[in-house]
Amino acid sequence: MTSLEDLPLRTNLQGLTPYGAPQLQVPVALNVNENTHPIPEAVARDILAGLAEAIRSVNRYPDREFTALRQALARYLGEGLGADNRLSAENMWAANGSNEVLQQVLQAFGGPGRSLLGFAPTYSMYSILAAGTDTTWIAGTRDADYELSPATAVSEVTRTNPDIVFLCSPNNPTGTPLSLETIAAVYDATDGIVVVDEAYAEFAPAGTPSALTLLPGRERLLVSRTMSKAFAFAGARVGYLAADPAIADALRLVRLPYHLSALTQAAANAALAHSAEMLAMVDDIRRQRDRLMVELERLGYAPHRSWSNFVLFGGVANPHETFEALLGEGILIRDVGIPGHLRVTAGTENETSLFLDALARLGRTDRPGQTESARAE
Ligand code: PMP
Repeated sequence: MTSLEDLPLRTNLQGLTPYGAPQLQVPVALNVNENTHPIPEAVARDILAGLAEAIRSVNRYPDREFTALRQALARYLGEGLGADNRLSAENMWAANGSNEVLQQVLQAFGGPGRSLLGFAPTYSMYSILAAGTDTTWIAGTRDADYELSPATAVSEVTRTNPDIVFLCSPNNPTGTPLSLETIAAVYDATDGIVVVDEAYAEFAPAGTPSALTLLPGRERLLVSRTMSKAFAFAGARVGYLAADPAIADALRLVRLPYHLSALTQAAANAALAHSAEMLAMVDDIRRQRDRLMVELERLGYAPHRSWSNFVLFGGVANPHETFEALLGEGILIRDVGIPGHLRVTAGTENETSLFLDALARLGRTDRPGQTESARAE
């Protein structure tokens, strides 16, 4: 037995901690922004049929170009876009979760001597992926209430001159929306790669335009999505992006051959054939999110504006204590390390009620108005 400290680890990884959201068996898991609704039974049956067929040829490597999946993804994204804004399979790329898509982007466009700018607080994997690819992570700042105006974003881009910018829209862990104006302004302010991470885009108000609408004429713009959230497919690990076809050529240089298994491709293809049913729960999740906003405020907390399937709320006197007390009742939420704040995923109606009821019972000892020193713990 040895320890990590004794190993000849790369210098830029020394002292770092891995991604580590707790994975606990609890009755109410609202900590990693999953879709807590299981996929519909009829869709599950179709996916199983697809898997049953695919398993018969797993002696062969899968389609390295995952052509059917790229066609299905283009079709799915294209449904929300106008006729002058067509996406085809050539525009699409996919991998095992959008985490892997983002890692491949950094492998292709980042690396030693290059930098990645994100706007903190933002998705915790960005800095971890930067470290893993030896890309310098730059934590830019935001405006009040975690908003990001074109002026603030552009001034950070100009100040830091990054090779890559990651814009999380809406932002995790704050839920904050991002305007197309900010995205376009960032694009104009850099010669580098601009990635808009739209992992939670489907939870935005109906009719909200996606960054996909900005793709024509912007060959350095990449829009990444995932099937993990709205599509209730987190366990299958499928993320994807849309961009100029040349971007896929760049990612082909760094992907592992056959990185998407035949089973993953079959499952995703079957699920995408039922996108309407798979997304049927989105409205309900939005309702639970809006209910969280109202009820958290009523309980004396300060929820932040959210266009995603989770809510970050301030006014928590001691986040660690509240987290532990809820866990004691079988409810797992997330302490994202922002002083005075906790984050909760919108669950089913019942799960959301269990969380709100438990919080209301705890309320007396964990309301705003505690001393600053208690809050800073
Ligand atoms: N982007 C954001 C903003 C996320 O919150 C997550 C997951 N929590 C991901 C990307 C990665 O998701 P996945 O790898 O499951 O597609």
